[in-house]
Amino acid sequence: MNVLVINAGSSSLKYQLFNMQTETILAKGNCDRIGIDGHLKHKPSNGKNAFDSDIPLPTHAEAIAAVIEKLTSDDYGVISSLSEINAVGHRAVHGGRKFFGSALIDDEVIDILEDCIRLAPLHIPANLMGIRACQKAMPNVPQVAVFDTAFHHTIPEHAYIYPIPYKYYENNDIRRYGFHGTSHRFVSAIAIEHLGLEGKNSKIITCHLGNGSSLAAVLDGKSIDTTMGVTPLEGIPMGTRCGSVDPSLIDVISSIEGTSIKETMDILNKKSGVLGINGKSSDFRDIELAAGADADTGFVDSSATPDKLAKLSLDVFCYQVAKFIGSYVVSLGGLDVLIFTAGIGENSPYVRREVCSLLEGIGVYIDEQKNATRAGSLLDVTKDGSKVKVLVIPTNEELVIARDTMELISK
Ligand code: ADP
Repeated sequence: MNVLVINAGSSSLKYQLFNMQTETILAKGNCDRIGIDGHLKHKPSNGKNAFDSDIPLPTHAEAIAAVIEKLTSDDYGVISSLSEINAVGHRAVHGGRKFFGSALIDDEVIDILEDCIRLAPLHIPANLMGIRACQKAMPNVPQVAVFDTAFHHTIPEHAYIYPIPYKYYENNDIRRYGFHGTSHRFVSAIAIEHLGLEGKNSKIITCHLGNGSSLAAVLDGKSIDTTMGVTPLEGIPMGTRCGSVDPSLIDVISSIEGTSIKETMDILNKKSGVLGINGKSSDFRDIELAAGADADTGFVDSSATPDKLAKLSLDVFCYQVAKFIGSYVVSLGGLDVLIFTAGIGENSPYVRREVCSLLEGIGVYIDEQKNATRAGSLLDVTKDGSKVKVLVIPTNEELVIARDTMELISK
């Protein structure tokens, strides 16, 4: 059984084709600049040539057609015909109040997704374009939607209700939803299995630190709180997003800049976060280098003269991550395991060390040498005597989507 996993954005479409017997990737790639001009990167895992070239991609339909052509071609292919794709799993960013788990896509699911556009106007239309393009190209292949929000449906009312007029929840579905659910679910499940914590009321905090970042408090395998809200702007500061700030800033910045609400939201979404502070980069590799940290170990060279704002942007980021972890210790009533994952969490010994050094007061200690090791697979960086286990676990959101898809089509 092969499952094609699709992650459609407004001008991009990432894909991975999985062989689900072995859970291995047969091919993966990315269509970029859809609707602008078009570029396709395709990488088969069977030793055949990779493809990396400009091709016209006016809409998502042409992008899917190009992906299928590459997957089945003599020169770049990994399957001999379309009939070898047994199902398609789609990443869907927002499931609103209706979806508590993944769903086999039918007309009703499409209608509910359409209704979720008001909650995620930038993301859902792109997800729908990906779904419709696949339905057109593969009308008889089952399609499944896997929601970023679903894992957080167990968050209790007191944690998801905003302290604003209740009618906005009742009439407009405004509440905390949370995102990165597939990632928080995947890494917390691995930790529970690895440490034999099944059914033991485990208290876990998962830190998904990437371009977009969020934390989740996971009690006995279930999300009970998370930092992102009705949109992915809330929570810890990110590459370009401000995270939680005084909401009056929207008014204040609009007055300073003479900008509309939409333009001010653009500043908070695209020009803020660590980029906003240091003014140069949202990429933690660049920022750490500018702050004088070694790219492999994260140790700071004492003879270096660190860029002040680069260092400050890292300090703000790490402080906020640690502060939210502290608050989730309250939510969970303690802490057994702290997990770092995603681009920064998996690859930045610097960020892990800085965050954990702020948590020594609650008994979190990491082993400096183990922490300076490159991950790749599960890495236990706990120092002997630490009250809390600290794990680095590579996430795999595409595999979660492929597994959910298999489960739903097998029912
Ligand atoms: P996305 O949210 O796009 O999925 P990722 O989880 O891939 O993001 O994370 C991307 C980010 O990870 C990059 O912007 C970069 O800041 C960070 N990153 C990747 N490798 C390293 C590294 N070696 N050291 C520090 N940060 C890294």
